Amino acid sequence: MADQALPQLAPRELCTGCGACMSGCPKGAIHMLPDREGFRYPTVTDACIQCGLCSYICPVLKQRERRSAPAVFAAWNPDEKTRRASTAGGVFALLADYVLEGGGVVFGAALDEELRVRHVAVTSPAELPSLLGSKPIQSDMGDSYQRVKRYLEQGRRVLFSGTPCQVDGLYRFLGEYPENLLTADVLCRGVSSPGVWERLVRSIAYVKRKRPVAVSFYTKLSGAKDRRFRVRFEDGSLFDAPYDKSELGRGHRRGLFLRASCHNCPYVSTHRPGDLSLGQFKGLPKDFHPQEQKAGISLLLVNTARGAQAVDVLPLKKVRRTLEEAVAGNPALSEPVSAPEERAVFFNAFAQQPFQQVRNRFLAPLAYQAGKQRLRLPGLLRRKAPAERSPKQTKPPKEPRTVREPKKEKRSLWKKR
Ligand SMILES: Cc1cc2nc3c(=O)[nH]c(=O)nc-3n(C[C@H](O)[C@H](O)[C@H](O)COP(=O)(O)OP(=O)(O)OC[C@H]3O[C@@H](n4cnc5c(N)ncnc54)[C@H](O)[C@@H]3O)c2cc1C
Ligand code: SF4
Ligand code: SF4
Ligand code: SF4
Repeated sequence: MADQALPQLAPRELCTGCGACMSGCPKGAIHMLPDREGFRYPTVTDACIQCGLCSYICPVLKQRERRSAPAVFAAWNPDEKTRRASTAGGVFALLADYVLEGGGVVFGAALDEELRVRHVAVTSPAELPSLLGSKPIQSDMGDSYQRVKRYLEQGRRVLFSGTPCQVDGLYRFLGEYPENLLTADVLCRGVSSPGVWERLVRSIAYVKRKRPVAVSFYTKLSGAKDRRFRVRFEDGSLFDAPYDKSELGRGHRRGLFLRASCHNCPYVSTHRPGDLSLGQFKGLPKDFHPQEQKAGISLLLVNTARGAQAVDVLPLKKVRRTLEEAVAGNPALSEPVSAPEERAVFFNAFAQQPFQQVRNRFLAPLAYQAGKQRLRLPGLLRRKAPAERSPKQTKPPKEPRTVREPKKEKRSLWKKR
């Protein structure tokens, strides 16, 4: 592309990585390649004939049509086991069952054998568990948009679920709202870097000296408030930590390695691209179905008539609530996460330093980091001789336990997901 102008695509800080431009290019001239932060961005190659289609498709360069305000429900799946495997109230599983039972296809995010997050198509209920539960990492769309199109052309019904930017990307790629397509976007305030996740998986394998084979990011141990990050290894043992105290959780919660576009996201609003939107209903009154709140209640937004038709036939428990209440309890409808100053520092280190150092510097418990920081400031604090140091300063923090999986839980927790 040395002597010809590049087609106009979203500026880097706004590009969501939805991949619609790549999928729509008639010459296969766009490749989605990871940058130094580990996120995929479009790269235009010499095969480009400057037809302009990618610029036309890119959702960031278009204004979305306004819709009327959504209908709001607190909703949950009456099946306890499915709800335990889901992040919120298990509404997605019911929607997916409904489409699969009618011979349709369901697209959503799953972990592959290398524990990378990818969008996949599921055609039978036996495969559905792989889609359940949120994965906080940006999923790789691959050729999902083209596959959705092919299934629709075959007359199959399709449920496509994903982040709002992925749902919008699909509509821009298709250029229409096909009758057989139903979409569900998840409420979302950011996806973590697939590159950082890949390095974390490798370093977990290195430290534990065994291969991780499955991960659950938000296992509900005793209920929706007790979220566990769990890694299962090939020998059957488990690494188990509260999500917020896992390295991934610490970095995620501080917004250290979210995609740049997430800090300026136009989808963090009540103006949604999907027929339905799924989130966690936060801020419900304490006396509103307390047992159900403990198990997790979904926030369900019905954005279109098609979405309303689907919801009407689901065996859901649902109660109408107000949009004001939903917005008050959930910043994923009103306010993107601002980028912390440390983000740039983190990614500079990520690009230049061995990952083990990056881990210790940014993802270890804060007390440990503060201790290390003090030891590194010779001008301000005299570095103490080893004999003077308290055990707290010299000892690295205790890693969360690696535990043997209790026999009773084995099946339900790690049933093929
Ligand atoms: C990255 C991310 C951030 C989120 N942030 C919030 C938030 O701030 N507030 C809130 O209320 N809800 C948030 N959610 C949504 C919430 O966690 C649940 O996914 C949603 O409520 C659906 O819950 P469920 O119980 O019905 O189904 P679940 O079984 O929990 O969810 C499965 C659905 O999530 C989709 N999914 C899972 N991981 C990904 C991924 N990486 N990329 C795209 N789609 C994915 C699957 O395709 C499937 O549609 C987020 C979800 C994701 C993926
Ligand atoms: S301008 Fe046309 S050929 Fe070039 S990258 Fe975009 S879609 Fe492909
Ligand atoms: S279509 Fe998606 S991936 Fe391509 S430039 Fe636009 S936002 Fe980025
Ligand atoms: S926060 Fe916005 S840009 Fe980021 S993944 Fe979610 S919808 Fe896409």
